[in-house]
Amino acid sequence: MAAPASTVPTFKLVLVGDGGTGKTTFVKRHLTGEFEKKYIATLGVEVHPLGFSTNYGPIQFDVWDTAGQEKFGGLRDGYYINGQCGIIMFDVTSRITYKNVPNWHRDLVRVCEGIPIVLCGNKVDVKERKVKAKTITFHRKKNLQYYDISAKSNYNFEKPFLWLARKLGGNQGLEFVAAPALAPAEVAVDQNLMEEYDAELIKAAAEPLPDDDDNDL
Ligand code: GDP
Ligand code: MG
Repeated sequence: MAAPASTVPTFKLVLVGDGGTGKTTFVKRHLTGEFEKKYIATLGVEVHPLGFSTNYGPIQFDVWDTAGQEKFGGLRDGYYINGQCGIIMFDVTSRITYKNVPNWHRDLVRVCEGIPIVLCGNKVDVKERKVKAKTITFHRKKNLQYYDISAKSNYNFEKPFLWLARKLGGNQGLEFVAAPALAPAEVAVDQNLMEEYDAELIKAAAEPLPDDDDNDL
């Protein structure tokens, strides 16, 4: 018999990053979350309940997504309050969106100190990638996890959630045991290119960190 919904461990996930990086596209991929989303009119926020099946039972991320307010500056504290985990998104085809990652990180940790955070570089399906692995160092300075993703192709969709679930549960043995229903891919990624990108990330992780934050790009 399925457990009642109220017993499913549920975590508020704060999704931030510059406008146009693909946050809304990403969260809408998960079909039941999209179907069950709730709009909080007072904050102008959509909350998508994304469920995942793990070998320890179901888990739910209530993913907070803005209605576009981030294009006009920072977000109100109400967006961050009680956040238990976070995703910071940038667009690998737009250097400025990576340059702004430290600002989003600062705003997030100011309210949500010490929460697990994943940095995601979205749109890796685009051939003209501008932000390459060797540039992406911010996560290493701040102990975040990093993933290349492509919301439009579902590439690595589950990776950030799996990493967060393991952190939140303090359990590296946690696995997802069934894939959530996702919207069909709108573009395809080139698997060989993704393998090259993975190799570049591994190589970059072995390089010394640049000490000057302004020289990141
Ligand atoms: P938000 O402002 O961060 O919520 O970004 P949106 O989800 O509204 O996406 C901004 C634009 O980027 C839209 O035109 C999307 O179709 C596009 N986009 C989002 N994700 C991807 C992706 O993975 N690949 C590509 N090529 N385009 C994407
Ligand atoms: Mg949006």
